[in-house]
This record gives sequence, C-alpha cells and structure tokens, in this order.
Amino acid sequence: MRIAEHGDTGATLARSKVPYLGVSCSRCPHRVLLSAVQLEAHEHDRRPLWRLPLLCRCGSRDVRRVLLDTPDESHAFLAGDDPVKHEGQSNGLWSPSF
Ligand SMILES: [Zn+2]
Repeated sequence: MRIAEHGDTGATLARSKVPYLGVSCSRCPHRVLLSAVQLEAHEHDRRPLWRLPLLCRCGSRDVRRVLLDTPDESHAFLAGDDPVKHEGQSNGLWSPSF
C-alpha cells in the first residue's frame, strides 16, 4: 500500500487489481475503503486522487488517500495499518541505511 501521489488518477484506481481507495481521517480514527465505482473512477479518469474532495463523517477534509496492491492490504488498512512513510527522502537522493 502507498499514499496516492500526484501522478495517481482515477484511472490508476480503476485499473488497479484492488480497485479500492483506502481513506483514513487524520482527525478521528475513521477509515474506509471507497470503490472505484463509488468514486465514479473509470479507465480514462484524469482526476488526481490526492485532490478528490473527500469529507469524513467527523467533518474533516484532512484525509489520507491510500492505494492498495492486494486484498490482504485492504484488510490490513481497515485494521489500522498505514503505508510506511519515507519522510526526508522526497528529494529522490539515495540514502544509505544500515
Ligand atoms: Zn474524521
């Protein structure tokens, strides 16, 4: 699983093996899976996923949008797992780890 990035669109979701967008709220513990059908995403959809207007039931618009690679990941996501963050590596430089 990974956070939806700027290159990910409705088409990414519609073509995915697991056509569900994981959405988790950063203000309350609410998290759901939204299907491509619910989001009206289709094969040629150019809407960027990270900009989809999503509103949590608590009223917050501050939500994470997560793409899932396997059905297992969708279960893990609902159980509370989040994608591993790679903070500080967004500059694309290789960083050694040991
Ligand atoms: Zn919420």
